[in-house]
Amino acid sequence: MTDELKPQSDPPAEGAVQERARAAATPASARRSKRQFFRKKKVCRFCADRIDFIDYKNVELLQPFIQERGKIVPRRMSGTCSRHQRWLKIAIKRARNIALLPFASEI
Ligand SMILES: [Zn+2]
Repeated sequence: MTDELKPQSDPPAEGAVQERARAAATPASARRSKRQFFRKKKVCRFCADRIDFIDYKNVELLQPFIQERGKIVPRRMSGTCSRHQRWLKIAIKRARNIALLPFASEI
C-alpha cells in the first residue's frame, strides 16, 4: 500500500504513535479490514463527462492532470480510468511537444 499520501516531515502526534504500536501488534490482514479514515471513491472525470476524445490542444482540460513540476498526475491520485489515462498521457505528451504544457517547470 503505497498510494496513501503521507505528510512529509510531520512529527507524529501522541495518538498516532500509540496507534502505530497497536497496529504493529495486530496481523496485517486484520489491520486492513478496518480503515482509519473514509476515502471518497474517485471517479474518472472523462467517463463521467462521457468524453471519448481528449484534445491535446485543450490546455484547460489537461492542466488539472499536470503537477506543479510538470509531471503527469498518476491514476491512483486523479482517479482516471486506465483507458482515459492512456489517452490523457498521449494528449499531454502531444501538448508538451507543441509547448502548450511544460516538460518540467521550476518551482
Ligand atoms: Zn474513464
